Amino acid sequence: MSKKYVYLFSEGDATMKNLLGGKGANLAEMTNIGIPIPMGFTVTTEACNKYYDDEKVITPEIIEEIHATMNKLEEVTGKSFGGTVNPLLVSVRSGARASMPGMMDTILNLGLNDETVEVVAKETGNERFAYDSYRRFIMMFADVVMDVDKKDFEEILHEMKEEKGVELDTELSAEDLKELVVKFKNYYKERKGEDFPQDPKAQLIESITAVFRSWDNPRANVYRRMNDIPSSWGTAVNVQEMVFGNKGETSGSGVAFSRNPATGERKIFAEYLMNAQGEDVVAGIRTPQPIEELEKQMPETYNQFVEIVNKLENHYHDMQDMEFTIEEGKLFFLQTRNGKRTAQAALKIAVDMVEEGLVTKEQAILMMDPKQLDTLLHPAFDTEEMKKHEIIATGLPASPGAATGKIAFSALEAKERHEAGEKVILVRQETSPEDIEGMIAAEGILTVRGGMTSHAAVVARGMGACCVAGAGAIKVDEKNKTMTVNGKVYSSEDYISLDGSTGDVYEGNIATVEPEISGHFGTFMSWADEIRSLKVRTNADTPHDAAQAIKFGAEGIGLTRTEHMFFAEDRIFIMRQMIVARTEEARRAALEKLLPMQKGDFKGLYKAMEGHPVTVRFLDPPLHEFLPTKEKEIADLAAELKLSVADLNGIISDLHEFNPMMGHRGCRLSISYPEIAEMQTRAVIEAAIEVNEEMGWNTVPEIMIPLVGEVNELKYVKNIVKKTADAIIAEKGVELKYLVGTMIEIPRACVTADEIAKEADFFSFGTNDLTQMSFGFSRDDAGTFLKHYYDKKIYDFDPFAKLDQTGVGQFVKIAVEKGRGVKENLKLGVCGEHGGDPSSVHFFHENGLDYVSCSPFRVPVARLAAAQAQVKNPRK
Ligand code: ADP
Ligand code: MG
Ligand code: MG
Repeated sequence: MSKKYVYLFSEGDATMKNLLGGKGANLAEMTNIGIPIPMGFTVTTEACNKYYDDEKVITPEIIEEIHATMNKLEEVTGKSFGGTVNPLLVSVRSGARASMPGMMDTILNLGLNDETVEVVAKETGNERFAYDSYRRFIMMFADVVMDVDKKDFEEILHEMKEEKGVELDTELSAEDLKELVVKFKNYYKERKGEDFPQDPKAQLIESITAVFRSWDNPRANVYRRMNDIPSSWGTAVNVQEMVFGNKGETSGSGVAFSRNPATGERKIFAEYLMNAQGEDVVAGIRTPQPIEELEKQMPETYNQFVEIVNKLENHYHDMQDMEFTIEEGKLFFLQTRNGKRTAQAALKIAVDMVEEGLVTKEQAILMMDPKQLDTLLHPAFDTEEMKKHEIIATGLPASPGAATGKIAFSALEAKERHEAGEKVILVRQETSPEDIEGMIAAEGILTVRGGMTSHAAVVARGMGACCVAGAGAIKVDEKNKTMTVNGKVYSSEDYISLDGSTGDVYEGNIATVEPEISGHFGTFMSWADEIRSLKVRTNADTPHDAAQAIKFGAEGIGLTRTEHMFFAEDRIFIMRQMIVARTEEARRAALEKLLPMQKGDFKGLYKAMEGHPVTVRFLDPPLHEFLPTKEKEIADLAAELKLSVADLNGIISDLHEFNPMMGHRGCRLSISYPEIAEMQTRAVIEAAIEVNEEMGWNTVPEIMIPLVGEVNELKYVKNIVKKTADAIIAEKGVELKYLVGTMIEIPRACVTADEIAKEADFFSFGTNDLTQMSFGFSRDDAGTFLKHYYDKKIYDFDPFAKLDQTGVGQFVKIAVEKGRGVKENLKLGVCGEHGGDPSSVHFFHENGLDYVSCSPFRVPVARLAAAQAQVKNPRK
């Protein structure tokens, strides 16, 4: 039998997400567990991928299968698609594996044409409803399929309302809507040079094609890159019998969360609109009503609603985000999925559900997106500062956090000003999916219209961006770039501040303070720590960062970049003397001055780490990075060294390199100038002895030699280290354990890791350099051309942010195997940026590493990602 590309909802279930998409799989699951949903079918993600493989056509076989399944749907519903008796109307809805809210397009009321609209009017006895549905269909079809902007139709609708002297869409009569349909069709003809298509079968195939096409639209691409969704997944398309919330005052549509998505409170949070269809609720056209009103209006429907919401949450063991429609008092569900939520809400829900016995700790650990933890760790407004600023408006607390910036009135403006280094707040009437890039660029988002489930609110919560929605007191003039509140006018040069946790909008620029972490965070993270087997260290160069990381749960330092300490003003001058020294004596003299400073740094780090291991990487960057460039600096240095400026300039230009990334750096420096390694060893060892004595600790310093590509390099530098260290330890007559290991960051080191391991106490993968050396492009320059790679789908992701497992990851694997092959207990870690990236953490877990090391703020992210990796793929 040939491959099946179309499934009735009754043929699928929740496990089939990859094939049916999230929406389709859940529609199937709801069908199976007896939730009232309109029947329909799903065209699979494989059909979408095939569409792209076949140069963007749907093959006749698949079209045939779609029509055949439509016939089955006609049987099930007892209606006829395009028929003149009891016509079947459907929606065409996109649905990828992962939810991408509002990123792709939906068409409602398909099956209507000049003939069927009359039939619907007659059969329902509701002409107003029939034409309301038709005008919506024309607009959506034109927008999604034929590329005629929805806004143009909205403009025509707006004119009509003005003409008739009404405020709301619902106040237009049947006659008005009939007239509107004519206007819409005329406009369509004017734009497309042909009549609005009348054949429902053709409408259907065109619509499905358009959904496939929308998988590749620019805003979907941006969203995917942000959320780690590969383009190869494709989207499914759901075709579903329509139910109508626009049939009058006993009909309506709404959205619901089984718990509060902002706070996590265990209480249904839902909004709805009577006499409305589909996205009216989220589009902010009218202000929705809280679900509590429904209890008064239709108590029976309300009770049934609550029952279904609870049933779905219990069934999925997670907070659900649902869509529902009431058609003349009868309730239907149209979608359910695990709801997006703020980080605070996510923690509360996870902890509550464990306490309620609804999920295990392991399941709870999987409920939280590690990246979201980030938002909990970020600053809030200083309460004292906040009092000094006036609240100019209050909207809904749509997504928590604190944000300050100057006002930007369009997404494009926000993006451009952000790129130019400004902090901006995006202020809009309401946002739409096209605004995504501007929303990413902005510090915070403020909208005038829209509720807690508006586009801005949903997207901001997902991104962890601060958002205040529906601040109705504000008037925005997007054309003239002004915002008016209480008679006062604000321009692009004015600062405002948003408190996403209260919904307050302040005038001016408010200082922020570090967040406090406690309560649910502590409980939840303690579960993660119980579960995970991968340890988490931090990359820290200062006691301040190290202390921060300890607070966030770091178990040691995996990387201290010693060069960062030399950029301080009082040191760089001495550092320069060391670099331009032409004799060993002169170099030693400068190093002698650096020694106490460096030793002081290490003591500070050891103390901050409270006895946990500290890995110190020896000097790594090309020396000329430290050299002076300004005339005055050069003159001062020449004077100190008793050189002429010309001579010094000569030395400086000798140090110039064409390709410094591959130049005189890393262990190469210690090979040329062993006295550098001697000084650094002395600083590391003496500091450790002193701190251990003072504090009564057992700090084990780990000395890390960078950029080794050949075992003899390591052997040479290690000898210097050992000689120096052992002499100091003997001289002081103390015991001190220390390790000497290497960074693995050159492909040659990976493939000769068996040799290198013989000389190393540990390996730490420097995946930043390893990535740049494996790909052969520099991370400082790649930004300019990688964007072409994303546009052309050559890469889906930035390999510097997310480990390239297929290529760079193989080098890691080889080094692990070869290294552990000769030293079974060789300690293995990672200290590149990837150490804090969840999907990379999974990879390191699976390949048996002992620890990852990342920047302090990502430590909690890595702890959680490591726990999730252990739940999904237990080791040891
Ligand atoms: P999105 O993924 O953007 O939420 P959906 O496919 O869920 O898009 O649909 C958009 C809106 O249309 C939602 O409010 C949904 O409930 C509504 N809708 C979709 N299909 C139907 C249908 N068959 N009957 C009634 N409303 C529908
Ligand atoms: Mg949509
Ligand atoms: Mg939806």
